[in-house]
Amino acid sequence: MPPVNRIELLKRFESYEPFCKVMLDAYALIDLDGKVIKSNQLLSVLLGTTTKQIQKADSIDQLLKMKVAQNKIKTEHLFTYRQPTRIDEVRGDTKDRENLNLILGVYPFLNEDKLLGLFLLIRDVTAETALQDKYKVKATQSITDNLSGLYNRHYFDQYLPSILDQLKKAEDNFSMSLLMADIDHFKKINDTYGHQAGDYVIESMSHLFKENCRKTDILCRYGGEEFLIIFPGAKLKDAKVGAEKLRNAVKDFKFVHNHNDIPVTISIGIAEISVGKENADAAIARADAALYHSKETGRNRVSVHQGGKIT
Ligand code: GH3
Ligand code: MG
Ligand code: MG
Repeated sequence: MPPVNRIELLKRFESYEPFCKVMLDAYALIDLDGKVIKSNQLLSVLLGTTTKQIQKADSIDQLLKMKVAQNKIKTEHLFTYRQPTRIDEVRGDTKDRENLNLILGVYPFLNEDKLLGLFLLIRDVTAETALQDKYKVKATQSITDNLSGLYNRHYFDQYLPSILDQLKKAEDNFSMSLLMADIDHFKKINDTYGHQAGDYVIESMSHLFKENCRKTDILCRYGGEEFLIIFPGAKLKDAKVGAEKLRNAVKDFKFVHNHNDIPVTISIGIAEISVGKENADAAIARADAALYHSKETGRNRVSVHQGGKIT
């Protein structure tokens, strides 16, 4: 003879059952022992077992082990819910599949305040999540440079014009500066220590740049040994401070490859972008001219393009 609660639960569930037949998610109606008393084919598929076996088990906890951020969730925890609740990012293990990505809906059947049982809706989003993750990795790969981990030129060439366009519409008086850096005598580094040493220098320098920039700065490897950095919110004098910081960080860093100490310096050119008044190319050209000036005047220095003059 089934307990009174279970009879009442089944009676209450009756009116929902036709609706559940067209449900596209797995579901289980469980009594106060955690025993599954109704379920659909999709639950059998999810758990890799038959409906008969599901209903034979003492509790759904035996068939599906769930966790949220390392904390186990058992039916006894779910029995404390008095409101319909949705729990995302649930990890689930079944007898032959591990680490499923699930979304769990919990609907408590109540008789006044007394809990009769729970209706659990379980959506398996493992495949979708894996696909999304793969897409995210691919999307990141397409805009970053392999060696340095910085944004690539393709990204930069799209980002800068689009951000300038947005700023033109959104806000006036927004300052933004552009820094162009190039490794000094890099060809000589390759020739003296080998191409791999050159790669090591680019990679380490990119780390140094990241460490010495703000999170909001946009760092890009623009060419072989050439870098472009956007300092959002920075006027020329702020950008100059940032540029000197980078120049000194590179000069003082001990680049060691295959036991060789490699002295490395960079030359830098900076320009402030006239937001709303010019396009990206014009600003890049000024930073480039300032960089050229740094090279011409001895390298390992920062030059500033301001008011038509380079200093
Ligand atoms: P300057 O001080 O005037 O900038 O001289 P430089 O030798 O740095 O400039 P140049 O343009 O003559 O040479 C740049 C060299 O950078 C040539 C190219 O082979 C090398 N290079 C470009 N990309 C890479 C890379 O990814 N790895 C390595 N190891 N070398 C690279
Ligand atoms: Mg160079
Ligand atoms: Mg160069």
